[in-house]
Amino acid sequence: MDKLAKLNKTILKCTKCELCESRINAVPGEGAKNAEVILIGEAPGKNEDEEGRPFVGRAGKTLDEVLAELSIPRENLYITNILKCRPPKNRVPKKPEVEACIDYLFKQIELIQPQIIVTLGQSALKTLTGLKGNLRDFHGNKYEFNNYPVLVTYHPAAVVYNRNLKSELVNDLKNIKSIIEK
Ligand code: SF4
Repeated sequence: MDKLAKLNKTILKCTKCELCESRINAVPGEGAKNAEVILIGEAPGKNEDEEGRPFVGRAGKTLDEVLAELSIPRENLYITNILKCRPPKNRVPKKPEVEACIDYLFKQIELIQPQIIVTLGQSALKTLTGLKGNLRDFHGNKYEFNNYPVLVTYHPAAVVYNRNLKSELVNDLKNIKSIIEK
């Protein structure tokens, strides 16, 4: 078993924060272990919790639509979240939960060594770059985390509620297409 698979196995049994009591499944993430691009959302939702896979609910379908529009195969990416377990009723992650969980993400990044990290939504942006504020002001821009470029965009869940954002999400993610095709 490779190091990433071992780490993800540890996550499945993790009890480091209270979310282990309410989850059905921890959701470590999935995709290529040597992916050029890591997509990072906030936390698993209901469907993800039930299936143990990231981005499989409505937001996941929107992400799939966007990737299909750009002809980016989902399996070429690595897709995960800041938190690996679902917060009850999809509430915003609490600070101690993020603090307990974040090392898993850092370790995943270290093992995968992507060319670029993509933050999907506010939580991932704030956690990786410290930036706060309206995503409108940041999306499409690149920042940095531990010498990795970080591309900022919307969470696909935002597109579920505001379809006008879809073209902006597509446009932002065009940036990763050339990296994947290299
Ligand atoms: S959210 Fe993270 S720290 Fe909390 S139980 Fe799940 S895997 Fe462990």
